[in-house]
Amino acid sequence: MGTKKRILVLGGGFAGVCAATNLERLLRPDEASIFLINQENYCVYQPLLPEVISGLIGLTDVVCPIRQLCPRTKLIMREVQNIDLVRRVVTVSPGFRPRLLELPFDYLVIALGSVSNFSGTPGMVEHVKPFRTLADAVNLRNHLIHALDEAEIETDADLRRKLLTFVVAGGGFSGVEVVAELCDFVDKVRQNFPRLRNEKGRFVLVHAGDRILPEMSESLALFAHKLLAKRGIEIQLNDRLVGATSEKALLKSGLEIPAKTIVSSVPSSIPLVLHKLDCENEGGRLKVNANLELVGYEGNVWALGDCASITTISGKRTPATAQHATREAKTVSKNIAAAIHGGPSSPFAFEGLGKLGSLGHYSAVAEILGIRISGFPAWLLWRAIYLAKLPSLRQKVRIALDWFFVLLFPPDFVQLRVVRDAGIARQHLEPGEVIFFQGDLGDNVYVIQTGECDVLRETNGSQAHIATLGPGDYFGEMALLNDVTRNATIRARTAMDVLMVSKKDFEALKSSIPAFREVFQRLAQDRSRKTATA
Ligand SMILES: Cc1cc2nc3c(=O)[nH]c(=O)nc-3n(C[C@H](O)[C@H](O)[C@H](O)COP(=O)(O)OP(=O)(O)OC[C@H]3O[C@@H](n4cnc5c(N)ncnc54)[C@H](O)[C@@H]3O)c2cc1C
Repeated sequence: MGTKKRILVLGGGFAGVCAATNLERLLRPDEASIFLINQENYCVYQPLLPEVISGLIGLTDVVCPIRQLCPRTKLIMREVQNIDLVRRVVTVSPGFRPRLLELPFDYLVIALGSVSNFSGTPGMVEHVKPFRTLADAVNLRNHLIHALDEAEIETDADLRRKLLTFVVAGGGFSGVEVVAELCDFVDKVRQNFPRLRNEKGRFVLVHAGDRILPEMSESLALFAHKLLAKRGIEIQLNDRLVGATSEKALLKSGLEIPAKTIVSSVPSSIPLVLHKLDCENEGGRLKVNANLELVGYEGNVWALGDCASITTISGKRTPATAQHATREAKTVSKNIAAAIHGGPSSPFAFEGLGKLGSLGHYSAVAEILGIRISGFPAWLLWRAIYLAKLPSLRQKVRIALDWFFVLLFPPDFVQLRVVRDAGIARQHLEPGEVIFFQGDLGDNVYVIQTGECDVLRETNGSQAHIATLGPGDYFGEMALLNDVTRNATIRARTAMDVLMVSKKDFEALKSSIPAFREVFQRLAQDRSRKTATA
């Protein structure tokens, strides 16, 4: 047997976590070290995410800590920034210290899912709420409660209508579940707002096809359509959201819907880091062979879940569902174990067991092993199946209790005011503390409010003092302007307070305000000149 292998799993969703748990089972600790890289430390149970909007399920009950799900796997909670398939190295984002981390691998599992992609559609990034992550669900819920609170005190009738209009784009499973939950929630909680008791919300579901739920048979889709329409949800078929402003949704048909809440469950694409990969794509996803190996990198790299384009042995394209992602993970882990043990690889053969979709209000549609069910029995089945599939006992109990409590009590509508990402942050330093080191990545530009710092540069092992900066001076722009690492260390000479402008905000200001860009470019040139002659 060879040396201990390093397996990197990228992504901690259904596909990545399930691959890691199976690898733990199939490989002994002395055969392989398993690393999982994910930007959060939890796995989200996305099928139940729409219920977070209405508060049917508690915020943290739809997530499970990855460390508990795969205890032998080393979790690296960072963002994957680059994948070098030739050198077999993955680069991840900096942590507290602004330095990139490079992780070599023998075997790589790519399971980074998909992301909402609104680029190219005017106003979508600014005014349309995506629905994919836990943060999206929390954000939407907070926005909804805010809109209701504003509608309650608003005297302008037009604005009140906009605040009470909710547009959801995408009539697939997630769009239908989102609009059903929105409608249920608003209907229930508006009883707490005296002025809204007699004012119903307007809910519009926009779908590009000629029927909603294209994943389902026509009869079940029709059942869902009628049920939603009966609840007052307007369904706009053969139309698409093509733009948005802070006041309205713009549809392809030319229709404009005045609304302050626009949600989209489409479109999605693979994460940016995967666009950069030098490999074959199919329909915008990574192309794999029957054994789920990345085409061109067979034997070392596998891709699965929402980011991969997979065809089963019967020739069908697999849909982007959790049901398929978990089965693909089993095939991938078996094939990696086979590669290590020297056995044959097996193809992915799962064709799907069925489809389930909730319509809220104790109703659902289901197609299981060819049998079609709708209404309350389908809803019971939907709940039983999803409860059984939850990854941990703790989560099963908590969600069962959540569902039980809503039978007894009305939904809560507390708005969770989380700390916003401030564009400008502050930092306090004591004498001798280092703001950044030479060689670090450029992550912020700094403005000194009070105190002084020394600029120190190391050349050939010896450190030289370049300058002392004081109140009103700024520094840190060189690395950002030239996209290079820090060329000096900055150490506080006295106690000091600084303002920090993040790289993202600095770039936005630089590209939008020519005078701002010029000031910093001139400063950078002056500094380069001075240090060159120093
Ligand atoms: C609202 C909603 C409802 C759904 N309902 C159902 C349903 O009822 N039934 C069903 O079968 N399926 C459902 N799905 C689909 C299902 O959830 C997905 O198919 C499944 O999650 C795919 O798993 P995955 O592991 O490929 O991707 P994901 O679960 O999306 O996991 C990808 C992981 O990679 C991480 N990641 C991405 N980029 C980076 C990066 N650069 N660095 C580090 N980490 C990164 C993400 O944070 C995430 O944790 C639903 C999806 C949504 C959004």
